[in-house]
Amino acid sequence: MTDGSHSRPITVVISGPGGVGKSTIADRLVSRDQRLWLSRSWTTRERRDGEPEGAYVFVDRDAFQQRIDAGGFLEWTEFLGNLYGTPTPEPVAGSDVVVLEIEVDGAQQVKAQHPEAILVFVLPPTRTEQERRLRERGDHESKVIQRLRKAESEEPVGLKLADHVLVNDDLDETVNDLLRIIDRARAR
Ligand code: ADP
Ligand code: 5GP
Repeated sequence: MTDGSHSRPITVVISGPGGVGKSTIADRLVSRDQRLWLSRSWTTRERRDGEPEGAYVFVDRDAFQQRIDAGGFLEWTEFLGNLYGTPTPEPVAGSDVVVLEIEVDGAQQVKAQHPEAILVFVLPPTRTEQERRLRERGDHESKVIQRLRKAESEEPVGLKLADHVLVNDDLDETVNDLLRIIDRARAR
């Protein structure tokens, strides 16, 4: 509890297909509001060229498995051959919202444990634009294809699970929509 209005932080899960803009949205979001705390995931995937070192805690499978065995993840999953997991959240003092940016299987796990968590599923304006964003980001051709294919199976699951669906066309609008969703949750 940090501001007296909630006994536990609100959990906001941002999910959506690869390249839709989740990381970009999450980073912008937390830079707009000091009380939002962004979880940093662990992954066994390699760092992409140009990707900030702090984007993830990059580890090998042994280290990841050790953390699983120690019960140190809120959720974890395998996604396109790599492991990804959310360490048990430890928001800094003064935070009233925990923000997770994860894929749909993890979002389902979080919902099962915390039904009050708010799940925001983000869609691209079009598949072509999603593809353009993946290429712009520098994903290898094989990864682009894999992620586009994966999106076809992720979207129906995400849409069913979601409390809110946002189309990330204009980035500022998407971030503003999310801030409004969070403010409404705080007011409840
Ligand atoms: P994700 O985390 O969903 O895989 P990223 O945040 O890495 O996606 O974004 C993929 C690419 O799309 C990045 O190059 C990012 O700058 C760009 N991007 C994100 N949101 C938008 C937007 N609303 N309009 C145009 N480009 C965007
Ligand atoms: P990427 O390789 O593009 O960074 O991430 C691949 C997918 O894994 C994305 O959908 C991203 O949101 C998701 N992801 C990132 N961190 C986690 C996590 O901790 N748990 C789960 N379940 N998914 C994650």
